[in-house]
Amino acid sequence: MEDDDIQGVVEVLKSGWITTGPKCQAFEKAFGEYVGAPYSCAVTSATGGLHCVLQALGLKPGDEVITSSMTWVSTVNMIELLGGRPVFADIDRSTLMISARDIEALITPKTRMIIPIHYAGASADLDAIRDLAKRRNLILIEDAAHAVGTEYKGQRIGKTGTSIFSFHPIKNITTGEGGMVCTDDAALMERVRRLKFHGLSKDAWDRYSKKGSAIMEVVEPGYKYNFTDIQASLGLTQLKKLDAFNRRRTELAAMYDELFKDIPEIGRLGKPAYDQKHTHHLYIVFLDIENAKLTRDQFVQALKERNIGTGIHFRAAHLHAYYQQTGRYPIGSLPNTEWASERLCSIPLFPSMTEKDVHDVVNAIKDVLASARSNT
Ligand SMILES: *Cc1c(COP(=O)(O)O)cnc(C)c1O
Repeated sequence: MEDDDIQGVVEVLKSGWITTGPKCQAFEKAFGEYVGAPYSCAVTSATGGLHCVLQALGLKPGDEVITSSMTWVSTVNMIELLGGRPVFADIDRSTLMISARDIEALITPKTRMIIPIHYAGASADLDAIRDLAKRRNLILIEDAAHAVGTEYKGQRIGKTGTSIFSFHPIKNITTGEGGMVCTDDAALMERVRRLKFHGLSKDAWDRYSKKGSAIMEVVEPGYKYNFTDIQASLGLTQLKKLDAFNRRRTELAAMYDELFKDIPEIGRLGKPAYDQKHTHHLYIVFLDIENAKLTRDQFVQALKERNIGTGIHFRAAHLHAYYQQTGRYPIGSLPNTEWASERLCSIPLFPSMTEKDVHDVVNAIKDVLASARSNT
């Protein structure tokens, strides 16, 4: 958070209008223009956005949705909450993403939708997945929480189809909490807009503004996922810095790549073979637990003791207690996802990191590995 972010919020607080209003409209427009999306709607989170999109597209109890278990579990929760059945394709061990071939093998007469995850700032292989969705008449929704600024074959994620972005504090830009639904489907956008605000035919701002009418109608029961002008102000100032943030992330990731070349116990993600622009949302490392003489959890703990924070992005969704208790996803059913879930963690990566910070992280990792070696 820099002075412009803080100043913008202060102005909103003094403006007399703090919830959904002109700043939200401006942020939706600016973000939509940035990615090239015809329609965009700001919501309280990517999770809430996905909830509205799935419902707006008519996901019904019993419908199957093919997705990845290597995601933040909210992707899966939203399918489950609407009565849908999450079906998991296994991931590629190098990119941790699902492929059209693996998705196709899981299609049944009940399959309605496909939700690939753009993982860690890379793009999923969209041409193949779009082609599959078209051939098999399935709805494609992109979980783009990690992909703010990511490009696939020269085109930003969000420009075509339906994508959902997140502005949670760990994401590439933040509004405190928040998300954006981008789509090229006008009818879908109209329904998402209603669902995110009580199912009303109008936003509060439309009612109170001079041109607006005070009459509101609940067209269908909806949620309360509307974005505030306080958040939208952060979105506008953060969006201006997004490209610079992503450039810095890319430089830092390249430094890590170079330094990890000499550390055999640390594995890294592979680069997808197709043309894309990576925004380095996360820097993922895999611990070689067979040779490193410690588990990933011990590794994470030892780094914490050395003042280095890490994240688990992600513990496979199907391994969480609720999904295990459904009995639908036996352990061993997704070998690559479980392999990664047991070995990965994300290490510090944020634009204000210095070169020295990068060295500190890598030296701490070397130190942890050396002390594990000498303990055995
Ligand atoms: C963060 C994240 C979400 C959820 O985003 P929120 O804005 O926190 O709801 C969904 N999917 C993935 C892959 C994420 O990383």
